[in-house]
Parts: sequence; C-alpha cells; structure tokens
Amino acid sequence: MSKVKVAINGYGTIGKRVADAVTMQDDMEIIGIAKTRPNYEAFVAHDKGYNVYTLADRVDDMKKAGIPAAGSIDDMIAEADVVVDCTPGGIGEKNKALYEKAGVKAMWQGGEKHELAGCSFNAEANYEEALGRDFVRVVSCNTTGLCRVIYPLDQEYGVKKVRVTLMRRSADPNDVKNGPINAIVPNPIKLPSHHGPDVKSVIPHINITSTAVKLPTTLMHLHTLNIEMEKDCSTEDVKALLAKQPRVRMIGQGIGSTAEIMELGKDMGRPRGDMWENCIWEESVTMYEGELYFFQAIHQESDVIPENVDAIRALTEIETDGTKSIAKTNKAMGL
Ligand code: NAD
Repeated sequence: MSKVKVAINGYGTIGKRVADAVTMQDDMEIIGIAKTRPNYEAFVAHDKGYNVYTLADRVDDMKKAGIPAAGSIDDMIAEADVVVDCTPGGIGEKNKALYEKAGVKAMWQGGEKHELAGCSFNAEANYEEALGRDFVRVVSCNTTGLCRVIYPLDQEYGVKKVRVTLMRRSADPNDVKNGPINAIVPNPIKLPSHHGPDVKSVIPHINITSTAVKLPTTLMHLHTLNIEMEKDCSTEDVKALLAKQPRVRMIGQGIGSTAEIMELGKDMGRPRGDMWENCIWEESVTMYEGELYFFQAIHQESDVIPENVDAIRALTEIETDGTKSIAKTNKAMGL
C-alpha cells in the first residue's frame, strides 16, 4: 500500500513536530514543508531531508539563501493527499480556498474556529466523526487535554458538570515577542472563558465552564479540574480509569512542578523533551463530598502531535478504527 502523502503548511512549533511524528509512521510520509522565510528552522528542515516550499514570490529568495526550494506552496499542495495547516491562528482560514481549489484534504489547528472545518477532532472522543471528511480541526492543546480525561469519565460514570481553571503559560519557550510576562493576568477577565467550553465542539453534551489566567512561565499549562458525575465512584476507581488511558501519564515520584515534568521528558530522551501525554498528579486525584478533583499539566507544544497523526488516518480512512490508530501512533512515537 502506498503511503499517504502529507504536506505541512507552516513549519513552526506545531508544524515541525507534526512533520517528525509523521516521518515516524509506516503508512504516511512528508512530501514537503512550507516556510515563509529562510531562517534556522528552514535550514534544519532542509538538513533533515524535507523538501522546503515557500510563498510563490519567495522561491528565489529561498534559493539565494542556500535552500533549494522545491517550489511554491501551490506546487506542494498539488503533490499532497493531506495538508496539515500549522500556520498561526487566523492565517489558516485564508488558506481554505487554496485547498478547495486543489481538491486536497486539509486539517487545521486549535487557533482556527470550529466552523472553518465543521468537525473538531480528538482521537479518543470522536475519531469516527472525521472518517473520510475533507476538512477537520485538531482542537487546541488545552481542549485536547480536557477531552482526554472528560471523555472516558463520561463514558464510565456520566459527567454531570465540569468546572476547570486553566493556568496558562504566557508564551512558548522560543516566543520572544510575547513573553514570558512578569505578572499574573486574568485572561479573559470577562467570565467564563472560552477554553473549557471548546470541549463541546468535540463532545457537545458536556456541561463545562472555565476560567483562565496567564502566568510568567513557558513550561506547560496546568488545569485544576472539578467534576460532578452521575454515578457513584471512589478515588481508586477514578485513578484506575485515568491510568489506563492511552495518552495519560500518572505522575508522582517527587515531581512537584511543571519544570520537573519537562526535565522528565528530556531525561526520557523524548524528541525536544516533549511530553505528549496529559500528566496527572496521582496524589491529587480525590473524590471529596461526591465531587472529583485533580491537577493535570499539559505540554502545549506537543500534546496535539499524536492527535494530528490520527486525524490524517481518519481523513484518508487508511485506518477506520480509532483505537487501532491511537495504538499505532503511540507505538511508532514511543509513547
Ligand atoms: P508558530 O508561530 O510557532 O508557527 C507558525 C509558522 O507558520 C511559522 O513558521 C510562520 O512563519 C509560518 N507562517 C506564517 N504565515 C504563513 C503562511 N501564510 N504560509 C505558510 N506559513 C506561514 O505557531 P504555532 O504555535 O505552531 O501555532 C500553529 C497553530 O497551532 C495555531 O493555530 C495555534 O493556535 C495552534 N496550536 C499552538 C500550540 C502552541 O502552544 N504553540 C498548541 C496547540 C495548537
């Protein structure tokens, strides 16, 4: 069987990680990545063997800088079965016409609105909904992290109500334009925030609201969850259920902060030190007066990466069973 041809439009924090994760799979391949400028990331992509494409009027600039650009973004799209759009939020929307014109399947990231694709994706919660579609949106890092725990709890016990506080990193580690900040910023001040309710774009019936603050850190988001469930269950029941989820890591062993989780990722030899799983403090999982509480940390740069791989399989229907795709992706990535 020939491999699915994948193009990455936008090779930044998310795009470069999706490219490497696709390369680890045996049923898909990268046919090109698109960079707007010949910066260090473009040189690394070229050194890794990826064909580097760029905007139509910048092909010569790229060549002059020493990167033999394989052509324009339109040329790249014409070669692809699926385009993974990893451009900054709001830009991807403008690319939809390009993909429609080329008749190519496309996926966007959480910075775009649900309506752009008409289907918001999380592999565990709604893989089947994306089967054979032309367009899908892989939800944000926070929404992915929330779906991964709310979906199994809802399946097992019925979720009556979720209240979540998101403590968000102010910027990614390489983002010199946005931070880190030296303050705690309620964001947004008007409540509730949109973050938690984005879960409804994947699991519509969940009653969920959220509040969010930005903190002076680049190392992960941290969620405080409070969940009411329909059926009775114990702390031990919930721990056992969460521990068996394919993209959840229960943490302890003296880890008391997001900094130590990031160190763990590096010590484990993960590419870029990435932590693809939700990290739940096992000790925090508590049923108290009939309600569930726990803390989880989400590595914003990487938790959506395995989800992108699964979304490619769902769109192209090379695997129609979500559970099998998750297992295949996890095995190939070493998760
Ligand atoms: P980024 O800024 O790190 O990377 C975006 C890349 O796209 C850059 O290399 C930029 O040069 C390039 N680009 C800009 N305009 C382009 C164009 N017209 N054509 C081709 N390339 C173009 O952004 P990111 O953090 O990777 O975010 C990408 C998407 O992923 C956004 O929707 C974002 O909301 C979402 N997302 C980001 C994170 C995160 O924490 N970084 C987590 C989950 C989802």
